[in-house]
Amino acid sequence: MAGYDADGLGYKSFRPDLVVIPSNAEELARVVQVLNDSRLPICMRGAGTSLSGGPVAVQGGAVVHTSQLREIRKINREGLWCEVESGVNLNQLDAALLPSGLCYPPDPSSGPVCTLGGNVASNAGGAHCFRYGVTSNYVLGLEAVLLDGTVCRFGGPAGGRGSWREDWKRLMIGSEGTLGAFTRFWLRLTPRSEKSWTFRATCADLATTERAIHALVKHPSFPVAIELMDPRSVAMVESSPMAVGLPMDHFLLVAEIDGPAALVDRRAESVAGVLREAGCTGVLFSDDPAMRTKLFKARKAQGGLLGQVSPDFLVQDAVIPKRALAELLALIYEEADRAGLPAVTVMHAGDGNLHPNFLFDSRKPGDIEKVEAISKRLMERVIAVGGTLSGEHGIGNDKSEYMGMVFGPDSLRMQLAVPSAFNPAHQLNPLKVFPQRRFAA
Ligand SMILES: Cc1cc2nc3c(=O)[nH]c(=O)nc-3n(C[C@H](O)[C@H](O)[C@H](O)COP(=O)(O)OP(=O)(O)OC[C@H]3O[C@@H](n4cnc5c(N)ncnc54)[C@H](O)[C@@H]3O)c2cc1C
Repeated sequence: MAGYDADGLGYKSFRPDLVVIPSNAEELARVVQVLNDSRLPICMRGAGTSLSGGPVAVQGGAVVHTSQLREIRKINREGLWCEVESGVNLNQLDAALLPSGLCYPPDPSSGPVCTLGGNVASNAGGAHCFRYGVTSNYVLGLEAVLLDGTVCRFGGPAGGRGSWREDWKRLMIGSEGTLGAFTRFWLRLTPRSEKSWTFRATCADLATTERAIHALVKHPSFPVAIELMDPRSVAMVESSPMAVGLPMDHFLLVAEIDGPAALVDRRAESVAGVLREAGCTGVLFSDDPAMRTKLFKARKAQGGLLGQVSPDFLVQDAVIPKRALAELLALIYEEADRAGLPAVTVMHAGDGNLHPNFLFDSRKPGDIEKVEAISKRLMERVIAVGGTLSGEHGIGNDKSEYMGMVFGPDSLRMQLAVPSAFNPAHQLNPLKVFPQRRFAA
């Protein structure tokens, strides 16, 4: 059970009373029914890569792990959809789709590990979601086990609402395990793009970086991804075995365009031109797959390095208006430096999804308090500049206390009506999303 006591937010751990690994969807439905009858809290878990304290048993009870629901049941090439079980891993699906020339676009960086169930429950995003959109844009239908063990389908391969008047499926997506246990999805597929170009550039200062981001966002090539690393992140990568030879005091931008070969080939030079005109240096670009991987390497390596360079880290996940980037970076540096904690920031810059990572040691007295106080002040400022609490990681139990900063009492009351309708006693994933969701057995 120790292996199930935390998610990617490792320092907050809650040991469950039991872990159940059903062998198939029918067994999962029966398990939920028995746990409901036993009045035990139920926490669904995919791969446990959540960074917001989602799949953890905060009130004890059972963790139900979907690792055995791993079947890709159908790939429909003509209809452009697939049917998968909720424990299917994202990269597993990508590999299965490859021969068909089709693609499932949402791409959280945890793809080698995370499950579709976790993706749908947290409405996951990723680098390429700037153009393609997040998970909710691709869920045509889903099957969920409700608290009493009833199996319901919302939508289906044809999309829409299925046999319901309202679009219940939209409520289920992003519900973070609070409404039901997902067993199966019908997902929309797209043709794989014919050709991609990757661009990497460095920027000596933030003003140049912002100019380049704004120019890319407006460029007719409509980039699929615009990724940013601050100089502290670059320095962290460059001081590691993953170093790629970047100047340590520069910002890093990585962008991608894709589409029909004839079109993107003509546009590649003009995207590089936009970066140069904005004042970027070291502009490199390529359509060669091996070279493209190299250009993306520093950005891809960043997340994995955190766990190697620090005993603990907290990855925050805020959405900000892009104009507020300078103000928020200044706040992050000021707060982290004052607390004596390293902070390295990355961003899905196209859609304003900011991820400051605070490195600390939970064994050192005071570190947890410092990092949590910084998080709170950061979120207060994010909201003050017009941003919000989560871009893609969800609220979990990490940010549930901040809900009142964004939503007023009336709004909270109405939003709480949704989980209350599905499980009035908050037995499903208690103390997640809303701090009031405590399970009273
Ligand atoms: C290195 C790293 C990079 C990451 N990059 C990204 C990124 O780019 N974009 C992004 O959006 N996220 C990212 N994440 C966060 C995380 O990977 C995603 O939120 C992912 O969707 C979680 O999937 P999972 O299978 O690990 O779910 P878990 O962590 O197991 O669970 C997440 C939530 O989903 C619920 N849940 C899981 N399975 C089910 C089910 N079958 N039925 C109902 N509820 C369920 C859980 O209760 C929990 O609330 C990253 C994480 C790491 C560690």
